[in-house]
Amino acid sequence: MPQPNSVPTRPCPDCKGFSVATITTGDRSADGTRETVTVCCSACQGRGFAPAWVTAPISARAGK
Ligand SMILES: [Zn+2]
Repeated sequence: MPQPNSVPTRPCPDCKGFSVATITTGDRSADGTRETVTVCCSACQGRGFAPAWVTAPISARAGK
């Protein structure tokens, strides 16, 4: 069976494709808005799709 040349892009399994989360710290800034921090998904570095090591077959991950 022929293999496709390109692997379809799959959403990152860690963040389900959200990639970047904005988290409230619980503090308020001087103008009354919530202080937030933006955190990129550590698995996909904020790209939102699965990195190659996630989509690669397990045999490839093991380096065999
Ligand atoms: Zn992710």
